Amino acid sequence: MSSILRCGRFVFSTSGIANRRLKHARRGWALLIFLALGGALSVVVGGEWKSGIIWPAPPVVDPGPVGGPPSDAIVLFDGKNLSQWDGGENWLVRDGAAIVGKGNISTKQSFGDCQLHVEWASPKEPKGSDQSRGNSGVYLMGRYEVQILDSYQNETYADGQAGAIYKQSPPMVNACRPPGQWQTYDVIFHAPRFTPDGAVERPATITVLHNGVVIQDHFQLAGGTFWHKPPEYEPHAERLPILLQNHGAPVRFRNIWVRELVPPVDKQPIQTDTNETESKD
Ligand code: MG
Repeated sequence: MSSILRCGRFVFSTSGIANRRLKHARRGWALLIFLALGGALSVVVGGEWKSGIIWPAPPVVDPGPVGGPPSDAIVLFDGKNLSQWDGGENWLVRDGAAIVGKGNISTKQSFGDCQLHVEWASPKEPKGSDQSRGNSGVYLMGRYEVQILDSYQNETYADGQAGAIYKQSPPMVNACRPPGQWQTYDVIFHAPRFTPDGAVERPATITVLHNGVVIQDHFQLAGGTFWHKPPEYEPHAERLPILLQNHGAPVRFRNIWVRELVPPVDKQPIQTDTNETESKD
């Protein structure tokens, strides 16, 4: 049923309006169906991208309590004794902490690429200033120092304060807690690589989190960290002990563990030359 509407010179048919609405609706539905079909078609034709590499399932690791150690870590100090360290008999273990004593101590095991967790505390009653206040250090491979220092309201040169890669890279921020409080270092270290003739093939890199704050971000070391001379590389073994420094301050340590970094290896089938195999027979 339709009716005619007159408005001045204009004449409207209600059935005409309804027809136009119907046409618009049909066009809308057609567009939606077209888009849906197009999307489905693109999935069917293009499909999901896959790398083609067959990765092994990553080993399962129990991360343990906050601060670790994870289940695959090598525990270097659990608060009981320093049996994992050469020279450990010269440091005191008391109330679950190892206290810097006579000389440096070095791990009996050697490490290359690794993740290292160390907790330390500078003396509660600060003595001295500058480099004399709460100085110690964590030396990867016995030669690349992450500085330990009481850098809480203690001025010193930037590349010598807590978290510095000594005389090479200051920490991005000073995340030091007040003296006496426990602090964490989480280090990701990649050992340098040398060619057979002793040239640097790939420099060492280091990332450090101090109390959970990133302070070194994949820094590329220029060589060993020295007080008396510029950094330089001296060719060395792929694995070497980790060293804790005696710098005259009774810094405490606890909860020290390390994980060796083993990148996943893919199982992509290797193309073999059958002709070559046959010729060997
Ligand atoms: Mg030091």
